[in-house]
Amino acid sequence: SKVNYPEEFAGFAIVDTKEWNKPKYTTYKPKEFGDYDIDIEIECCGLCGSDIMTAKGGDHGWGSITLPQVVGHEIIGKVIKAGPKVSLHKLGDRVGLGAQAFACLDCNRCKHGNEQYCPHTVTTYDGVYPDGYVSQGGYASHVRAHEYMCFPIPEKLDSIHAASLCCAGLTVFSPLKRYIPKNLPEGQVPKVAIVGLGGLGHLAVQFCKALGAEPYVFSRTDNKKEQSFELGATGFVTTGTEGWEKPFFDQFDLILNCAIGLSGLNIDAFLSILKVEGRFCSVGLPAVDEKYNVSPFTFFGNGSCLCSSALGSREEAVELFQMAAENNIVPWVETVPISEENCQTALTRAWDGDVRYRFVFTEFDKAFGT
Ligand code: NDP
Ligand code: ZN
Repeated sequence: SKVNYPEEFAGFAIVDTKEWNKPKYTTYKPKEFGDYDIDIEIECCGLCGSDIMTAKGGDHGWGSITLPQVVGHEIIGKVIKAGPKVSLHKLGDRVGLGAQAFACLDCNRCKHGNEQYCPHTVTTYDGVYPDGYVSQGGYASHVRAHEYMCFPIPEKLDSIHAASLCCAGLTVFSPLKRYIPKNLPEGQVPKVAIVGLGGLGHLAVQFCKALGAEPYVFSRTDNKKEQSFELGATGFVTTGTEGWEKPFFDQFDLILNCAIGLSGLNIDAFLSILKVEGRFCSVGLPAVDEKYNVSPFTFFGNGSCLCSSALGSREEAVELFQMAAENNIVPWVETVPISEENCQTALTRAWDGDVRYRFVFTEFDKAFGT
């Protein structure tokens, strides 16, 4: 059926968190059109682990959500409408939208390249605008967002690859860029542990290398060993056996945790492989009912620290797309034409870890008549 744009958008929405993997075709009113807003007619959209954690809601996910909810925040499409104050994009431009649709752009954080931490942030889906409108994401015909959150995409990148760079790529690029040490003694190459080889992790390996550091993959089993080296890893470590950390004492400058759960992670063991004042930075966000279990004595042993990182800034996004184009950084993707049935299959398989390493939904024009 053909979507009734601009009155309505159409998308595949979670209608019940118990059926988190069974989105249904739905139509809905977009948010009120703002002066800086653009409408994107969507060409393709990646499937992020966050879509799953959001869809699971209070049922071992990130907590309660507004239903029906269209997830998806690795969006590529074409600008088809632009507000009167839009200056960053023109009609017809190909743009990308990640996990953030709005920031005030006026607070201290926004003014210093940290708009991802703006207290007025509205996420691309399940975010609340000041007027109470709840945002809807990219498993849809269209999405409306602030122009600043939409990124120009270099011609050299295919849409199906650019999609996953918008969230997965930016989320790992930002902390790697910020936290890989730049002042090591002459001749020493920074060593980075990438924990969890999924959508985020497999891009972290590639960006880490492009940023001049040595990535080592830490995975729960040895199933992904060969592919880790294909992706450019310097080393591969299986964390499934007791004492795996012993040979790596005092070796790493940074740990980037990209795992979606905590059950497979021994944080004390990970912290012990850091050099003095090294950092364990988590981009992985487990279900709200999970907590870190870590001893203060572990930090006492090496002055290490534990932190999280959220998304990245527009400035970092622009740099990352450039770097991806120049260094041939390509997400490994499996494309699926978007439909109720394929959303169900892809969400289920992604949760089961049965994808190398990202699903990208395609053929939106067929599904929505755009
Ligand atoms: P994927 O499912 O693609 O990858 C997650 C990886 O985590 C798996 O490949 C697996 O790696 C590992 N893993 C899975 N289950 C467990 C477990 N129980 N314990 C330990 N490790 C586990 O997910 P994504 O890459 O899409 O997302 C990863 C995380 O990042 C999610 O929590 C997501 O919500 C979050 N995220 C955070 C953002 C931010 O701004 N901070 C933005 C986007 C996503 P292996 O088999 O190698 O062990
Ligand atoms: Zn995401």
